[in-house]
Amino acid sequence: MEENEILNVIRNELFYGSADYTKSQPDLFIPHRFKMLAPSQVDSFLEKVKESLSEEDEILLYVHLPFCFSECLFCNSFPHKADKEAQKDYLSNLLKEIELLTVRGVFKGRKAKCIYLGGGTPTSFSNNDIKLILDKISSCIDLSENCSVTSEAHPSTLSDKQRIRELGDIGINRLSLGCQTFDQKVLLLCNRKNTEGQIARIVNDVKDTGMSINIDMMTGLPGQTIEGVKKDLEILGGIRPDSVEYIRHEIVNPLVVKLYKDNPGLVVDNDTLFQMVCITQEWMSANGYEQNGRFTDDTQWGYRYYWLKEMPIIAFGSRARSYTRTICFDKHEELSVYSNIIRKGGLPVGRYISLTPKEQMYRSLLLNIQVKRGLDIKQFQSRFTADPLEVFSSLFSRLSGYGCLQQEGGAINLTKYGAYFVEDVCDYIIDAVLKEESKSLARTPHSEGGTSSRLC
Ligand code: SF4
Repeated sequence: MEENEILNVIRNELFYGSADYTKSQPDLFIPHRFKMLAPSQVDSFLEKVKESLSEEDEILLYVHLPFCFSECLFCNSFPHKADKEAQKDYLSNLLKEIELLTVRGVFKGRKAKCIYLGGGTPTSFSNNDIKLILDKISSCIDLSENCSVTSEAHPSTLSDKQRIRELGDIGINRLSLGCQTFDQKVLLLCNRKNTEGQIARIVNDVKDTGMSINIDMMTGLPGQTIEGVKKDLEILGGIRPDSVEYIRHEIVNPLVVKLYKDNPGLVVDNDTLFQMVCITQEWMSANGYEQNGRFTDDTQWGYRYYWLKEMPIIAFGSRARSYTRTICFDKHEELSVYSNIIRKGGLPVGRYISLTPKEQMYRSLLLNIQVKRGLDIKQFQSRFTADPLEVFSSLFSRLSGYGCLQQEGGAINLTKYGAYFVEDVCDYIIDAVLKEESKSLARTPHSEGGTSSRLC
């Protein structure tokens, strides 16, 4: 097919626009399969988790720090209002949780390949608090050589160069800065205030310390235009962070839903959004930036790269999701429930899914196609004693017919345009999993579980 023809097919058959699009960092999300766990069942459940980790030498660690100073309208993570007392309490429970998992032997014999502090705004905690977390982790689990340690950060928390330097001193070696756009009108609508000068200064300050710096950007924000996106790219090209992640605005926050209800003209229509994705992905490729669908190695974002290579994730904190190759489990979301269980010496695991062998195969496909090399056919065969071209034959024929998926060099991987629309391809695969289980099942937003704004 000609390039234009492929793009037309993707737009007509696969592109979910904003409203039905659910994944900015796709993993297999099948919430109908969650089973609740009573506190009395958690210890025996943890034995199964340990068993599922028995072959793993290295794991990823995620730390969830769900507090923010104000709420951005594009937010899909529903943080709590930053508050000294609440954060102090959360921190002490989080440190205890790390200890409890250590005592139960979850980390025995394995190393942490990467650590990721996400939120919320991790930098709403002081450097000293972040140091306590990193010190606790390194006293409980050995770190791999060159362990990548990322913290997400809000630009307003990095105005002081000394603070940035200290973050490097305590062990952070990569900062990920939420920027989303430089368009002041759009930012104002989204309840954000970052400026081009502020972001450029932070990027320079971080680079001066020797840390790596990522900038998060978005398309499909309220009132965003093609011209605005082009201007953003021009500015980014001048700032030159070490990595960039471009995602689409996922319309789930009740505040943005209300804004759109009152001002329908602010919604970016699907055709414009489609163009925005093409423009930004073209720019990312041309400027050597890798993201989902195109990662060649761990240089730009180790944590995500190894996640896609199916390295298990053990997550700390309320609502945090962990994955091994066969089990997915979530911590309790409510802070009071999370804290009370830990205070009583228990682990706050609330629900889990034991992936069936078929679901494991789907997850393997879904994650590996987000790496440039794709799903290695021989490795899949030796792990599952099944040929992926047969297991996924109907899916493969539809997605390759759309010009998104191909067989190349012993792997199944995304084509150029499949990589541009990687989230839609992943959503399509999740739809196939759901339909295989029951015709009546449909995707729900990945942020399901947090349904109301907490900060306003
Ligand atoms: S998007 Fe805004 S509200 Fe949401 S976690 Fe980031 S800084 Fe906080």
